[in-house]
Amino acid sequence: MLITHDTRCALDAVVDLVNTAPEDGVAEGLPDVGALREFVAGHRISDVGTLSELDLSAVRRLRGRFAAVFAAPDARIAAGLINELVAAAGTTPRLTDHDGYDWHVHYFAPGASVADHLAADCGMALAFFVVAGEQERLRRCEAPDCRRAFVDLSRNRSRRYCDSRTCGNRLHVAAYRARRKEAAG
Ligand SMILES: [Zn+2]
Ligand SMILES: [Zn+2]
Repeated sequence: MLITHDTRCALDAVVDLVNTAPEDGVAEGLPDVGALREFVAGHRISDVGTLSELDLSAVRRLRGRFAAVFAAPDARIAAGLINELVAAAGTTPRLTDHDGYDWHVHYFAPGASVADHLAADCGMALAFFVVAGEQERLRRCEAPDCRRAFVDLSRNRSRRYCDSRTCGNRLHVAAYRARRKEAAG
């Protein structure tokens, strides 16, 4: 499937967003407006104006909706969730070739809040995976104590861990130790 620069950026943003959610032993990754500002700057989300507490709570709510897409067991459920969150955001699709990139479509409406901007553009990036029959590439890490969201862009959809050097490796080491222990009797 064709993944344009913008789609790639939107995917990075949505994965990072979902992974800021607090979980057992993991603190809230967006604790305040300052953290949201850093997230927005880091992902170069443009034209979102001055950020407020309202933006923060809207982005956290949206994060939960995106998390549900990554947890969706099949394409139909993912499609329903994506339709809902994109519809709620409102979109204004338009062609652009900003900053020297090839022609591509932006979806967020002019003047959209940061939550609506993310819902429109990240929502559509995820929508293309459903369209391409690739919804199962939207995954959660299989390491039992991790479960971070990631997008598997490997050729044969074989990626199981958010990061093979940490989660993948950690499991390999654990399996190796278990085998050694067994062999040692
Ligand atoms: Zn763009
Ligand atoms: Zn992981």
